[in-house]
Amino acid sequence: MITRYLAIAALALGAALPARAQEKLPVVATFSILADFVQNVGGERIALSTLVGPNGDTHVYTPTPADAKTLAAAKLVFVNGLGFEGWMERLVKASGTKAAIVVASKGVTPLKAPARREHGHGHGHGHDNDSTDPHAWQNVANTKIYVANIRDALSAADPAGKSVYEANAAAYTVKLDGLEREVRETIATIPAARRSIITSHGAFRYFATAYGVDFIAPQGVNTHAEASARDVAKIIAQIKKQNIPAVFLENVTDQRLIRRIGAETGAKVGGTLYSDAVTDAKGEAPTYIDMIRHNVRQLVSALVS
Ligand code: ZN
Repeated sequence: MITRYLAIAALALGAALPARAQEKLPVVATFSILADFVQNVGGERIALSTLVGPNGDTHVYTPTPADAKTLAAAKLVFVNGLGFEGWMERLVKASGTKAAIVVASKGVTPLKAPARREHGHGHGHGHDNDSTDPHAWQNVANTKIYVANIRDALSAADPAGKSVYEANAAAYTVKLDGLEREVRETIATIPAARRSIITSHGAFRYFATAYGVDFIAPQGVNTHAEASARDVAKIIAQIKKQNIPAVFLENVTDQRLIRRIGAETGAKVGGTLYSDAVTDAKGEAPTYIDMIRHNVRQLVSALVS
């Protein structure tokens, strides 16, 4: 009987203790770029798990039983939304998680995915028509909206940390302001007539709209629909006609198509752009800010002759 009282007393004491390292708020982000935003805002107060890690392709991800356990243990789950994580709804249900699901892109003005010129079949994934383009983070102004949403959700889940989350979000937003200026100034050094490139999947339309570089992609906004022979032929003709100077590889997609287009047109293969994932710590774009900076440098080195 006495040991039982002692155990209860110990439990009560534990609950009264202030938050310590081992009591960090368990938080999940669906993919590596979003995880970077969440970590910047959450700092030391959160224990963050990421479902689709560095260099992973979120469009075609297959969740694992371990992911369901991770969700079940979480207090907050951050998703991009805009149709990016098509597998998430089933995973949430399967996990039985009680976590709040936070759509980090809430408040962003979405771009429509361009209609694809396919004939009838969509391999069962054919939601490219009439769907939303999910890659909103490619416009740094949108990322500031993500950061504000993350700050508010973390503050609601962990009110004791509110001032920390506010300070972290403000500090990160200052860095994003600087990044935005840098992107505009750097793009301005590319002659307007040369601001046109090819990438494999349509991940850069938010970037294109915000910063005035034309991206043409054979693959549409998803990676699970392959470019048709007709699409590829059309792009090869367009590159030749418009004298498009460079084609770019991506870290999350098959590089053979872009290499083939480069070989057939003589357009320069301008290196790798990072669209839907950061690299691991040893790679050239381990954070979102590194990623945007890297992409802009790649564009300049391929397009400024
Ligand atoms: Zn994508």
